[in-house]
Amino acid sequence: MSQSQLSGVAVSPGRARGPVVRVAEPLGEPANKPAPEDPQAEAARIAPATKAVAARLEALSASASGDAATILITTAAMAADPALISEAERLVTAEGLPAPRAIYESANGFATTLAAAGGYMAERVRDIEDVRDRVVAELLGVEPPGVPELPTPSVLVARDLAPADTAGLDPAKVLALATEEGGPTSHTAILARALGIPAVVAVRGLLSLDAEALLVDGDTGVVEVAERDAPVLTAVASGPVEWNGVGSTSDGHLVKVLGNVGSPADARAAADAGAEGVGLFRTEFSYLDAEAEPTVAEQQSAYTAVLTPFAGKPVIVRTLDAGADKPLAFLSPEAEPNPALGVRGLRVAFDRPEVLDRQLEAIAGAAQDSGADVSVMAPMVATAAEAAWFAERVRAAGIVRAGVMIEIPAAALSAKEILAVVDFVSVGTNDLAQYTFAADRQLGAVAALNDPWQPGLLRLLKLIGDAAKAAGKPAGVCGEAAADPLLARVLTGLGVTSLSMNAPSVRAVGASLAGVTLAQCEAIAARVLDTPDPAEARKTARAADAG
Ligand code: PEP
Ligand code: MG
Repeated sequence: MSQSQLSGVAVSPGRARGPVVRVAEPLGEPANKPAPEDPQAEAARIAPATKAVAARLEALSASASGDAATILITTAAMAADPALISEAERLVTAEGLPAPRAIYESANGFATTLAAAGGYMAERVRDIEDVRDRVVAELLGVEPPGVPELPTPSVLVARDLAPADTAGLDPAKVLALATEEGGPTSHTAILARALGIPAVVAVRGLLSLDAEALLVDGDTGVVEVAERDAPVLTAVASGPVEWNGVGSTSDGHLVKVLGNVGSPADARAAADAGAEGVGLFRTEFSYLDAEAEPTVAEQQSAYTAVLTPFAGKPVIVRTLDAGADKPLAFLSPEAEPNPALGVRGLRVAFDRPEVLDRQLEAIAGAAQDSGADVSVMAPMVATAAEAAWFAERVRAAGIVRAGVMIEIPAAALSAKEILAVVDFVSVGTNDLAQYTFAADRQLGAVAALNDPWQPGLLRLLKLIGDAAKAAGKPAGVCGEAAADPLLARVLTGLGVTSLSMNAPSVRAVGASLAGVTLAQCEAIAARVLDTPDPAEARKTARAADAG
């Protein structure tokens, strides 16, 4: 492959070409040494830097509208706050700190005060941190971190993006996304798919590619240098697919085709696509930016907005899956050496059960307000004892069906014991692959191991499918594996009873199931389980399809 063309992992379909905008890397803490030789002159740099940042934010607010404009104006006012500036100046002249470090500490002092005040004030902590990073960058003469405002529709290029940054992307402005790091099941990839932004991750060498414009192909994974003046291009991946809206094999074996959602917009898109319900509502996506725990009333109304398009239909709400790449400020654990192996998902609730109970109260209220047929499940469950602990709390909150996700190999191996204490399970193949193959789902270098066609992963799914059949209870899949129309047949053959995915995949998966009998699915699954690697597994399933 030539140097003007690189290859990565395609994670969100569609092709787009346009000018490149690079996302600057995080700055980290500015150094507290050396002490300035001329403290007065160093302190005098601070006010102009804050003024420049405030002016830039005000200019941006002029081209924004609604909430975005209000936020930018408020943030500009924070940057110009005389108390912030004078404290930073004092830290330079009295304590001998370099100006970038002084503004950093001054802003952190304000952030601590705001956080302690709680409520609306606490929600401004993120804004003061944003001001802090912009002024530090100004003083250091580097680009401010994070996703910049895009003057025209552009292709974003980054090492990786945090889920919170990706969730805020405007699909009208971001033509496509390409990252040097990231895996096919990272939350950035999942969010790009939900937003309909073509994306390629794990593009090795991307950051050293000298390009003013790029063509990103979210179907093949190819990223290609384009002429600077090449016209902007966008093309969606595939045309409409015929499906009658009932998840079923051709001989009437029902497999519900459900939506994965994280916002009211996702829920409307899933309902419009014909999803029969929701198999995974990622509640933590509503709070990636929240500094303080939302109240029960706030949660209830946020959840009701997501559930309403599914009144009268089944919806599985997942309790907060905080931690690893989705830290929630109000639940952050102590710093951990390996956050993906740390206190995340349900583990957070063992220390803070009152947070879980408040969330369950809000979910029960939202179920009533929306009329959706709500079940609740917990993320990151390792043992049957944990599952039983959770189910008891769910039932105490007046919610009738309690389930758990199977995303840890130990849970897959204990599927029988877990199913004995809950009403259903749902397999999170993204994390189950990550933990089975010891391969970080955010890391481009190990992306091939996080392939849902890995026979090692599918053998665990067989264990779960068999346990569910024996228990007579449902076992769904809500990881990205469920969105692959060919793999959907394999999963059905392994005993999976529902498949949950992003809206754009719903019709293709529904149509794929309608084209085969259950016996054919079982035969394909048996052959795929016998293959040595993902390439053979795909080939075997395709051959069975043709024959
Ligand atoms: C999964 O791990 O497969 C899953 C569905 O949960 P999440 O992607 O939110 O971690
Ligand atoms: Mg998961």
